[in-house]
Amino acid sequence: MIVFDLICRDGGHQFEGWFGSSSDYESQQAAGLIDCPTCGCTAVDKAVMAPNVAMKANQRNQTPVVSGEANDGLSAPAEKVKPAAKAVAVPAEYQELVTKLAKAQAKMLEKSEWVGGNFPEKARAIHYGEENDTPIHGTASEDDVAELEDEGIDVMPLPLPVTPPDAQN
Ligand SMILES: [Zn+2]
Repeated sequence: MIVFDLICRDGGHQFEGWFGSSSDYESQQAAGLIDCPTCGCTAVDKAVMAPNVAMKANQRNQTPVVSGEANDGLSAPAEKVKPAAKAVAVPAEYQELVTKLAKAQAKMLEKSEWVGGNFPEKARAIHYGEENDTPIHGTASEDDVAELEDEGIDVMPLPLPVTPPDAQN
């Protein structure tokens, strides 16, 4: 499966389409089988994708996580959406959910301190009372998260990737 960000020529609406392969996309696109979920037009191109690439590269196998009070108000994890077998645009409700989630996450992280890869150490220091109890978020490997949980430290994976403050410019 491969997912492309698509954009319709008529309205400039962006949406995602899932395909079996890059050539599946090309043949469906050429045959006019892909239509924009917003306006229904079938003149569709791949959107230029720029964001996230650099971030993913340097996060590698790191999961964005949050601890402490910062996870108040965002207890429900995002529903996993299964890719469909043929080109299907992501439903508007899903995009709406992601947008809401992104806003909720940004709001929740306003009062939380980004600690990057120091997350496991900081979370421990706070848990054991060596540092003030303050909400933090950062990155941790799956092993780190499992160890923290074993120690009884509350860690919650964030639903969306976080751009580290030092990588935003
Ligand atoms: Zn459209």
